[in-house]
Amino acid sequence: MINKLCKEAHEIAISKGWYDEPIETGTKIALIHSEVSEALEADRKGDKENFVEELADVCIRVFDLCGSQDIDLEKAILTKMEKNRGRSYKHGGKAY
Ligand SMILES: [Mg+2]
Repeated sequence: MINKLCKEAHEIAISKGWYDEPIETGTKIALIHSEVSEALEADRKGDKENFVEELADVCIRVFDLCGSQDIDLEKAILTKMEKNRGRSYKHGGKAY
């Protein structure tokens, strides 16, 4: 399901002209950052509806990035979640 969303997010981005010129991965990462910042601002304003929308934007930009590089995000998430499940309590005493 997640990989399908990655493919769709990338197809939509292509159809809207966002890939007419080459885009560096660093630029895509910066744009993911910008959506995270928008989510932070929405939360600070107490705007729950916008907060959720900005979180969706974060995911959509990550999905597009993965879709553009044929990254198996679904497998990566499941692998990392399993790794996290096996970690010690508070990962051995880290602060939040
Ligand atoms: Mg946004």
